[in-house]
Amino acid sequence: MSRFWSSTVHALRPYTPGEQCNDPEWIKLNTNESPLGPSESVLAALRDAVSPRLKLYPDPDAASLRAVIARHHGVEPSQVFVGNGSDEVLAHAFLALLKHPLPVLMPDITYNFYASYCALFGIERVSIPLSGAFQLDIASYKRPNGGIVFANPNAPTGRALPLSDIESLLEANPASAVVLDEAYVDFGAATAIPLVHRHPNLLVVQTLSKSRGLAGLRVGFAIGHADLISGLERVKNSFNAYPLGSLAIAGAIAAMQDTAHLERVRTVTAIRRALLTVGLETLGFDVLPSLANFVFARHCQHAGASLVAALRERRILVRRFAQPRIEDHLRITVGDEAQIQTLLAALGEIV
Ligand SMILES: *Cc1c(COP(=O)(O)O)cnc(C)c1O
Repeated sequence: MSRFWSSTVHALRPYTPGEQCNDPEWIKLNTNESPLGPSESVLAALRDAVSPRLKLYPDPDAASLRAVIARHHGVEPSQVFVGNGSDEVLAHAFLALLKHPLPVLMPDITYNFYASYCALFGIERVSIPLSGAFQLDIASYKRPNGGIVFANPNAPTGRALPLSDIESLLEANPASAVVLDEAYVDFGAATAIPLVHRHPNLLVVQTLSKSRGLAGLRVGFAIGHADLISGLERVKNSFNAYPLGSLAIAGAIAAMQDTAHLERVRTVTAIRRALLTVGLETLGFDVLPSLANFVFARHCQHAGASLVAALRERRILVRRFAQPRIEDHLRITVGDEAQIQTLLAALGEIV
């Protein structure tokens, strides 16, 4: 607290990211990073980009990367926006598309950064409760609004909606922007990107942090109607004209082109997710059906906080959110097979 703070800063509700710890002895299952990491072709492209050319500013529009993303997803480059992680892309989307006199609608349980953006930008919001099984009910979004935002699959639940539901939501809200955060879509859900051709109010946001194993590079993107994208560009060019460095652009291009690596990540994650789910269920956990690279689980007898503390003593990090309805749930990243076995053995001792 300081008397030099602005009233805006006093009113902020900063997001708390999961703990980062660099000790390789620890098992880190708290921030949904990929145990498979980036592909070799990405590392080669990054090494290649380390050169005296770094004296130059990067292309402010990252045209080469936007062209690759556009081709990959069957849209025009004018329908693609890129930013410094999808968190930044989402922030620009809140300011560009979701700040209106009517409140923005979002689930009561979803990515906590959305509430932080609302506080930062002075955006009214209304939380719509998920169902008892933590499913999003699109019928409950039929009310006047200044926009809608949620993650699909949702975070931290891992539950996904079918595209037919997303399309109904878009049709029921033609006058609102719908921002769909697909941070985890590559792990098994269907992307709504094809719907942007029919729905000029849809903005789909994705990241290279999770499925492409590049959380450290900071690259995210959005796809939507060119008019939505130019709104994001107006915000970006009023804030930071060069959000992506030359290294990030080079690495991201290689990552988008390596579809074989993505396929491998998809397959391996689905197998390990099933292994983790069955293991947890055997130990007495209720595990929500997940289409993400994490599971959301609660033990029938043990409180969430005590499980997190007991795992921490064994140098295993998982994520818990101390908020109503989910304080006893753990969000556990699908790690590699050794990490899953160590986690299950530790939980076996604890419970
Ligand atoms: C991880 C995550 C993001 C942020 O991804 P970055 O691209 O690393 O900023 C966005 N939304 C959700 C739901 C996430 O879990």
